[in-house]
Amino acid sequence: MAKIFSLPAIRNIGIIAHIDAGKTTVTERILYYTGYLHRMGEVHDGTAFMDWMEQEKDRGITITSAVTSCYWKEKQINIIDTPGHVDFTAEVERSLRVLDGAIGVFCAVAGVEPQSETVWHQADHYKVPRLVFINKMDRVGADFDHVIEMINERLTPDAFAIQIPLGKEDNFKGIINLLEMKAYLFDETTLGLNFEVIEIPDKYLGEAEQKREKMLEILSEFSEGIMDKYIHGEEVSTELLKKTIRELTVKNEVVPILCGSALKNTGIQLLLDAINDYLPSPLDVPPMVGKNRKTGDDVLLYPSYEEKFASLVFKVQMDKYVGKLLYVRVYSGSVKKGEILVNQTNNRKERIARILQMHSNKKTDVDVMRAGDIGAIVGTKATITGDTLTKEENDLLLEQITFPDSVISIAIEPKTKADQDNLSDSLNRMQEEDPTFHVHQDKDSGQILISGMGELHLEIIVDRLRKEYNVNINTGNPQVSYKETITKTVEVSGEFIRDVEGKGHFAIVKLRLSPLADNQTTEHKKNRFVNRISEEIIPRQFWQAVEEGSVSALIDGPLTGNPVEKVNIELVGGEYNELVSKDVDFLIASSIAVNNGLSKASPVVMEPIMLVNVLTPEDFVGDIIGDINAKRGKIIVIRSNQNKQNIVAEVPMSELFGYSTRIRSLSQGRAIYTMEFMKYEKTSAVIQKGIIKNYRGY
Ligand code: GDP
Ligand code: MG
Repeated sequence: MAKIFSLPAIRNIGIIAHIDAGKTTVTERILYYTGYLHRMGEVHDGTAFMDWMEQEKDRGITITSAVTSCYWKEKQINIIDTPGHVDFTAEVERSLRVLDGAIGVFCAVAGVEPQSETVWHQADHYKVPRLVFINKMDRVGADFDHVIEMINERLTPDAFAIQIPLGKEDNFKGIINLLEMKAYLFDETTLGLNFEVIEIPDKYLGEAEQKREKMLEILSEFSEGIMDKYIHGEEVSTELLKKTIRELTVKNEVVPILCGSALKNTGIQLLLDAINDYLPSPLDVPPMVGKNRKTGDDVLLYPSYEEKFASLVFKVQMDKYVGKLLYVRVYSGSVKKGEILVNQTNNRKERIARILQMHSNKKTDVDVMRAGDIGAIVGTKATITGDTLTKEENDLLLEQITFPDSVISIAIEPKTKADQDNLSDSLNRMQEEDPTFHVHQDKDSGQILISGMGELHLEIIVDRLRKEYNVNINTGNPQVSYKETITKTVEVSGEFIRDVEGKGHFAIVKLRLSPLADNQTTEHKKNRFVNRISEEIIPRQFWQAVEEGSVSALIDGPLTGNPVEKVNIELVGGEYNELVSKDVDFLIASSIAVNNGLSKASPVVMEPIMLVNVLTPEDFVGDIIGDINAKRGKIIVIRSNQNKQNIVAEVPMSELFGYSTRIRSLSQGRAIYTMEFMKYEKTSAVIQKGIIKNYRGY
């Protein structure tokens, strides 16, 4: 067991929410009150501090998860601003991997919206302890109790208020703290910097007592200490409550709920206190589990400076001034500027030129980075997102971050020769930053296709190419990324036999190709290769070549030239010649066999299917469902929520271009929706040559 040394108190947190709930504004205010910002940025006039990228300013949304460090009452808080738009769920996922705690921000009017439900469940998956902040208490229609009900119903029954609002809408004046039973009034003239603590006004006393009761009731279920006092009607001290809430929150058993208005500068300091009081430090979370990649044994990484250095790269960003920035989470040990690290994923050595602490778009140089820290390093060459960095060659590997398939692509074309060179450079840099962005050049036409997670994702990339990298390009219409698979089992053979001036070639392979079921593929392996022959038939030294040749033939499907997936390839026979057979002969023979087999095995085209979640007033349900059916969609469930209906359906991506405009016109602008990638499935569309680009038919 490792010795644990006292780490400076750190909180690594993220803010997760539906778009527009107020993440950016909350972050702004946190930076203001922690003294970093001297002036408050406002999202609506585009000066927000976190939204530093051009595109983010234009669109008023947050795209990259920039890390920001600040200090509150002797504790260092590292905030990772996670994006809210569905096109960027990969960003949310990778942030969750490196966080110790999170704040779920909800709008007091809209409550739990579909996207926040998705992100919440992602956070459940990574067991991230959470606080809830019900924002926008100043808005007309703000309803604290209703949002709590929705949270209890949809997210967790063990969330409870530790605060209640003092007034609401225009009359929202402050926060009542249910632990100490005091009211906090915030002073508008100092932008909420000053506040006054008073006795709870009579008018609110009844409600405060009732909500405190509810809090004690839930805490009693988990804590005997509280239960004892609660049933005997004894006073429960603020200290005991704080301690118990901290323990239970860190263990992910309860979720404390706070409230306020970021825009009106109300409640943010109390939120900061709660981050310190209730969210875990790196010491409070279980040690990270890595693997020894040689032995497969688990390796526990304790958050101590004395341990060996281990860290995970969770984001790569190209910076105009310092170049390639790696955002890393340090799990154990420490590293100094100038030291050499080993990239365990590709075995390369990397020298750390600088270590930076990030304050959104500002940076401070630091000399060391230690267990528990999140920061950025400069000077590396061959390291990408998901890689493990250590100091020794100790075969340690942290679980890689997996990213979903890209489902949509557009063709781009440089306008001039100069743009052409600039373009490939820029695309390379962007690919290095973003593991969900891919560039593909069509073999036949030479056309460049870029692909990503959704329309918005590609729109932003094109925008950045034009504005940030100054490349002039033409773009085509967005199209979905198709794949192929087979539906029949076939046995085929392929041979490569030549006698070229004494330098002979000889290889014959017999393969069986069959469809793989969904549960037989994994994130990393979409196809499977199995050897069913003995060394007498084909010597062991050629097996690797057979596998490589077979797999390489799956890159280009027979129908559309798109990748082929869910194919089981078995090597069932073959022949060799002792004198002339070489690796390359088997490589070619197996690739011929697979190409042959794919067209005989009744290949089909698969298209990406999206999970669509629509929230609409009752009146438009009929039209929206009709439209989904016309789009070859399938309704999964319809749930009602107050006076709204929640329609969940699966719909082919190709039918969803411009869906935001469509849904607006179907619902007079009153329905909202989210969509996310679900699966690839055999297309139900009648395919003709030309509908799918390069469709060759068979
Ligand atoms: P994000 O998309 O979650 O980052 O949300 P933003 O912080 O960009 O906020 C979305 C919109 O809501 C902006 O116009 C904000 O000015 C506004 N907003 C944020 N917080 C509040 C609040 O407490 N009260 C009100 N009335 N509006 C708010
Ligand atoms: Mg934002």
